[in-house]
Amino acid sequence: MLSSNITRDADGTLRFAGQSVPALAEEYATPLYLMDEDRIRANCRMYRQALRESFGEDALPLYASKACAFKQMYRIMAEEGMGVDTVSSGEIHTALAAGFPAERIWFHGDGKTDADIRYAVGQGVGCFIVDNETELLALAQEVRRQGVRQRILLRVTPGIDPHTFEAVNTGTVDVKFGVAIQTGAALEFARLALAQEGLELEGIHCHVGSMVFDENVFEDSAEIMLGFMAEMKEKLGFEARVLNLGGGYGVRYRETDKQVDIPARIAALAAFIKERCAALGLALPAVLMEPGRSIVADAGMTVYTVSTVKHIPNCKNYVIVDGGMTDNPRWCLYRAAYTVLHAERGGETERFTLAGRCCESGDIVQPDVPLPADIKRGETVAVCTTGAYNYAMSSNYNRLGRPPVVMLRGGESYVAVRRERAEDLCALDV
Ligand SMILES: *Cc1c(COP(=O)(O)O)cnc(C)c1O
Repeated sequence: MLSSNITRDADGTLRFAGQSVPALAEEYATPLYLMDEDRIRANCRMYRQALRESFGEDALPLYASKACAFKQMYRIMAEEGMGVDTVSSGEIHTALAAGFPAERIWFHGDGKTDADIRYAVGQGVGCFIVDNETELLALAQEVRRQGVRQRILLRVTPGIDPHTFEAVNTGTVDVKFGVAIQTGAALEFARLALAQEGLELEGIHCHVGSMVFDENVFEDSAEIMLGFMAEMKEKLGFEARVLNLGGGYGVRYRETDKQVDIPARIAALAAFIKERCAALGLALPAVLMEPGRSIVADAGMTVYTVSTVKHIPNCKNYVIVDGGMTDNPRWCLYRAAYTVLHAERGGETERFTLAGRCCESGDIVQPDVPLPADIKRGETVAVCTTGAYNYAMSSNYNRLGRPPVVMLRGGESYVAVRRERAEDLCALDV
């Protein structure tokens, strides 16, 4: 199977985190997001341990909470000793409402508004990751107005192409994020940051992209980042204490995808960074990483009920389900691959396009997936590896309510986010 938390019984029943998927569909109704809490926690521990062993006590993984954010997720992150990345006041609010400590929140984003800045500074958010000079000056002004100090990192772009899909590539010079090192702009950015009263510059950040499988992407960006740290030390007399290398390790969506051995990659990265620091005369900085997908993706599964099956002779077969682009827009957005399984039986002998119920021809969850030839209305299907960027990207298009998020933990299940009901959909309407 694709992931060790997905199994199938001899009678064909699909199990996720050891629990019967058809039984969960029966109990909670569909469409349904399932999340394997034990897997989320195991992924957090894997990162924490790998970073600590490789880099020492100052290293910390920050969960990139845009991948999947709701209160219970932040509680889990707090319990697992993670930091969190946020990109909006809404994510910060959710984290704080869950009791997540403000000082362990890092605040990202290239379009922070004055209201976001005021709110985050006022709440005592631990660290801003400042994207650009305009934001830097707005933040400095707000910090002085509130009479506080704010720790910051600067987002810079190392000019690395991580060889992933264009929409998720964020490290090259021409992207909208951060300030480029290679043009000299980042040095001026740092100079300006150091001149701001109330702002405490700790170091630098980069994030070169998502779904990274290539071996050397993090080493390549670390090389440029460390070179920039040496340049800042030489030209500005500033020694960065923090190096945040972003997130991005790829996960398996299909059995043919590669498996990234994250602890091994982190160990190799640490060896490289230590060697480069020694060569450049830099003290080893505290290394932060920002995994999103690789914390939650394989902890998720979406379950649907089949509404109809359409055979278009000599052309295509459709399985249409009770969800779609509203709960998983990723194929529509960037042709994301998924593994689809019948939840009640194996025997996948025919090809179908798994389509949603929205009024868009493009509302497709996954084209060309093998399913049993006699699949029919009322049966359940599961889409695997939907823990990242599914619930987080869901919408109410066609006034469809969002599915609930049901957590699976130690053989039990509980609702972490309840189903959005018809009255919820009118809650904002006057
Ligand atoms: C999206 C994002 C991440 C997380 O990326 P994953 O591919 O989900 O690990 C981390 N840092 C930043 C700045 C991001 O934009």
